[in-house]
Amino acid sequence: MLVNLISDTATQPTPAMLEAMFAAPVGDDVFRQDPTVNQLEATVADMFGMEAALFCPSGTMTNQLAIKCHTRPLDEVICEEKSHIYQYEGGVYSLLSSVSMNLVHGERGKILPGQIDAAVKPEYDWLPRTRLLVVENTCNKGGGSIYTIDEAALLVREARAHGLAVHLDGARLFNALVETGETPRQWGTLFDTVSLCLSKGLGAPVGSLLIGKQSLIDEARRYRKVLGGGMRQAGYLAAAGLYALDHHVDRLAEDNARARRLAAALRDLPGVASVADTETNICIFDLRDETAATFLERLREHDILATAFGPRTVRFTTHLGVTEEQIDYVIDRLSLRSPRAVPPVRG
Ligand SMILES: *Cc1c(COP(=O)(O)O)cnc(C)c1O
Repeated sequence: MLVNLISDTATQPTPAMLEAMFAAPVGDDVFRQDPTVNQLEATVADMFGMEAALFCPSGTMTNQLAIKCHTRPLDEVICEEKSHIYQYEGGVYSLLSSVSMNLVHGERGKILPGQIDAAVKPEYDWLPRTRLLVVENTCNKGGGSIYTIDEAALLVREARAHGLAVHLDGARLFNALVETGETPRQWGTLFDTVSLCLSKGLGAPVGSLLIGKQSLIDEARRYRKVLGGGMRQAGYLAAAGLYALDHHVDRLAEDNARARRLAAALRDLPGVASVADTETNICIFDLRDETAATFLERLREHDILATAFGPRTVRFTTHLGVTEEQIDYVIDRLSLRSPRAVPPVRG
C-alpha cells in the first residue's frame, strides 16, 4: 500500500470526474468560446457573490495576477511571513509587479488584530506605498490554520481604514469552510479578490480561479494571456473543476478529520517533540532526536511519503486519495518504527 501524504496536489481524478471531463463541450477559451470554462467562471463568481472569475493554470498565477492588478510598481504588500505568496512563488512579485513585501510576524501564519495598523507606512517620498493586504485561509505553512470570518473581517476593516485593497489566497478555503459552516459568499463579500485552487483537496488535475470585480478580472485576463496562461480547449479541465465543486467540497471534512487522527497519534509518540494544532488537512510536527530526512527515509521503506518542512519538521497532508485504512496503516507503522515506543523488557 502506497500512502502519499506529500501534498493534497497528489490527487488522481476519479473515474466519475474523468467521465465529466470527456463529456465536456469545449471551444477556444482565448476567444471566450469555451462553454465549460464560461460555465465554471460564472458558477464560481455566483458562488462567491462576485462579478466575474478567471480560470488559470495555477494558484501562483491567480495570486500574482491579483497583486499585479491591485498595485503599481514600488508599492508594497502586507502579508504574514509564512504566506505562500512570499515563501513559495519564487519572489516573482518583484519581477511581475515590481513591488516589495512588508512582512508581519503573526501566529501560525495568521495576522493578528493591530498588526496592519502598525505595518502600514505613512506617506513620505522615501517610503514604499502600502497598497494591498493578502490573507491566506487556510494557512499552509501555519499548519492549515483557519481564520474565522470574524477574524478576517477585523483585518479587512483595519486595511480598508488605510485605503488598502484586500486579496484572499483561498487555495484551501473550502477546508476551512467545512469546519466553520461559513459560506463562500461571506468571504466574497469581504474581499476585493479571491484565489481558489481546484487542484488541491478538491481533486481536480489542474486549475485555479481568480474572482473579483468585472473590471479587475478583464485586466487580469490580459495579463494571463501575455504570461502564456491563455489556454484553448480548457473546458476539459474546467469540467473537472465543476465536478469537484459539486462532489468534493463536503468530503473535505473527512480529510480534516484524518489529519486530526494523525496528529493525535503523533502526540503519543516519544520521538515527536511537538505537533501543531491541526484544524484542517495539514499536520505539521517536530521530531525530537531525528532529522526529517532520516524520518522520511524510514517512512519510505513502508511506502509512506511525506514532506520535510524544516530540518526536524515534517508535514503530513491528507486528501481525496488517502483512505481511512491508509491512516490506520500509517499510525500502525509510526508506532512500530519509533524505537522508544517499544515497551521495556520486564526482567
Ligand atoms: C498551493 C497553493 C497555492 C498555489 O500553488 P500552485 O502550485 O501555483 O497552484 C497558493 N496558495 C497556497 C496557500 C497554496 O497552498
